[in-house]
Amino acid sequence: MSAPHAEVGFIGLGHMGFPMVGRLLAAGYPVTVFDTRAEVVAAAVGAGARAAAGPGDVAGRAATVLASLPTPRASEEVAESVGAGDRVARFVDLSTVGSPTAQRIHERLAARGIAALDCPVSGGVQGAEQGTLAMMASGPRADFEAVEPVLRVLGRPVFVGDAAGAAQTMKLVNNLLAATALAATAEAMVMGVRAGLDPAVMIDVLNASSGGTHASRDKFPRAVLPRTFDYGFATALMVKDVRLYLEEARALGVPVEIAEEIARRWEHTLAEEGADSDFTSVIKPLEAAAGVIVDGRDRQP
Ligand code: NAD
Repeated sequence: MSAPHAEVGFIGLGHMGFPMVGRLLAAGYPVTVFDTRAEVVAAAVGAGARAAAGPGDVAGRAATVLASLPTPRASEEVAESVGAGDRVARFVDLSTVGSPTAQRIHERLAARGIAALDCPVSGGVQGAEQGTLAMMASGPRADFEAVEPVLRVLGRPVFVGDAAGAAQTMKLVNNLLAATALAATAEAMVMGVRAGLDPAVMIDVLNASSGGTHASRDKFPRAVLPRTFDYGFATALMVKDVRLYLEEARALGVPVEIAEEIARRWEHTLAEEGADSDFTSVIKPLEAAAGVIVDGRDRQP
């Protein structure tokens, strides 16, 4: 019989964290959880997790602590409390926080003898549910290898490099491109519908053509054409990632003209649709400006 899995700590049970905890439990890991929202902690306990009183308590019970949090500030605060735990050996931040924040977390925890890995993920709520997330990690390689079996339950881990924050830079590059494709597809779809094209036919043709992207293959069919706007990624989080990209790119002195234009579109979506709106709502102000609705429900099965 194989040895029982060691306790894993998990902090942040949101769109991503909650299904990740479900996968860890299903794989046989005992999981101790914390979130500031009592209702999601209760739901995780209902699924078999143990509740902790706070991040420090999680870090007093598990050697490996994972976190999936909504802002760089939340990650820094949680990492600070995790640093006070007496059992934790590794802190793995699955959130998108940008490389300066990841570097600060690495330094502060290293001073207490705790290894930090930044390991942002891609693949959305569906990837978290199905264990198919792309997981990009940076930090001490030996610690990456130590947590790899846990990460494999959640997706496909790739070691980006041992420089703290390198994986964050990689993730921001990915998300700038995802933000661009979604905003550009929204604008072009509105144009086509205004010209009289059928939106569902447009998406079919794009997906068989050179203009197809993850936006047309997955986001539009799942959350825009059916008008559900429930893909599971908040506009505030997309804006956070685009801002983090711009900060990092400007600090490097590289060209940012396209990123700045994309950022304006997302800041406008935030102002018009609100922080908690789903990021597929990026199309709504464009529809309003053009006087059309990109509605594909006639063709949905
Ligand atoms: P979310 O807002 O749904 O979940 C965040 C959770 O953290 C919430 O349950 C919240 O109550 C909890 N929280 C906030 N502050 C806390 C604190 N101080 N201590 C404990 N818990 C706290 O966010 P999400 O969509 O799950 O995203 C989490 C991270 O993953 C973000 O960095 C996001 O950019 C990234 N991400 C999200 C997706 C996605 O599709 N949703 C995809 C890839 C990456």
